[in-house]
Amino acid sequence: MPTSLVTGGAGFLGSHLCDELLRRGHRVICVDNLETGSLNNIEHLRGDEFVHVNVDIIGPYFIDEPVDFVYHFASPASPIDYLRIPLQTLKVGSYGTHNTLGLAKRHRARFLTASTSEVYGDPQVHPQPESYWGHVNPIGPRSVYDEAKRFSEALVMAYHRYYKVDTRLVRIFNTYGPRLQSSDGRVISNLMTQALHGEDLTIYGDGSQTRSFCYVSDEVEGILRLSRSEEHLPVNIGNPVEWTILECAREILEVTGSKSKIRFEPLPQDDPVQRRPDITKAKRLLGWEPKIDLRTGLKLCLEYFRQSVERGEKATLAFSSQPQVR
Ligand code: UDP
Repeated sequence: MPTSLVTGGAGFLGSHLCDELLRRGHRVICVDNLETGSLNNIEHLRGDEFVHVNVDIIGPYFIDEPVDFVYHFASPASPIDYLRIPLQTLKVGSYGTHNTLGLAKRHRARFLTASTSEVYGDPQVHPQPESYWGHVNPIGPRSVYDEAKRFSEALVMAYHRYYKVDTRLVRIFNTYGPRLQSSDGRVISNLMTQALHGEDLTIYGDGSQTRSFCYVSDEVEGILRLSRSEEHLPVNIGNPVEWTILECAREILEVTGSKSKIRFEPLPQDDPVQRRPDITKAKRLLGWEPKIDLRTGLKLCLEYFRQSVERGEKATLAFSSQPQVR
């Protein structure tokens, strides 16, 4: 039975990855210090094949038993979170990636890291192919995340080139599904939560900015196909259907049957104007493309958001949280 180590395994994407690895017969070591992850996401994963190790990977950490695959998914990922803990975000993308690469090297494990569409910044090439180098503000508020992920990519390629570590790089575009925290401030969680509370849906700017939303099961399938492939260079995994934020809000109103109104609020600094993956490479190399459209995906997470609204969970607005340095 292969052993997979998943950093950030108690997070949204990491926990879905743990589920799928277990389903495919792996033993899973979930490494997560619960800074933004949650035990709620892994409480159903008890048994001999699953273990949670609560450790902060920005310091060296060691696992004694053999590890075959390392999936490095630890990082705050929602703008609200990485603006709240900017230094931890920079450290997990640098020291955390370094330590995790060192672990993979020692175990001779295959290593896959979660990179992001944010490496393209506010893109001037549209849609974004992997060959695009991006348009990132290196000192803006989002830079703590974008540059950490870009540095992570550089580290991974260096470990591949100089130490011959067997690495993979996935660039993940906006992903949604159950376990997205209602309060994480992202567009789908905020608008679903607001719609189900009957509160105004907050649209930042005029809502003409675009995103392309991938349902979590499609995303995980693409990631696992990449981990089985022999491709060392980055691969975009995301849904290429592009929505304006206003169109997305209308879908959410339809799916929830909510009578909420739309309220326009200021656009956060450096908010990308457009984002859409070019997935030609994933289609060609992995035979992968997403199957679940936005309407279907929103319906699939309706019950999850209903339950979190019943527990009283609320959306978080960008302008209500100030960046803090601890
Ligand atoms: N957004 C919005 N209202 C919200 C939350 C987000 O209009 O309540 C917008 C945000 O300004 C951005 C888009 O939705 O243009 C996607 O934001 P998100 O935080 O989900 O992720 P991003 O793709 O920006 O990292």
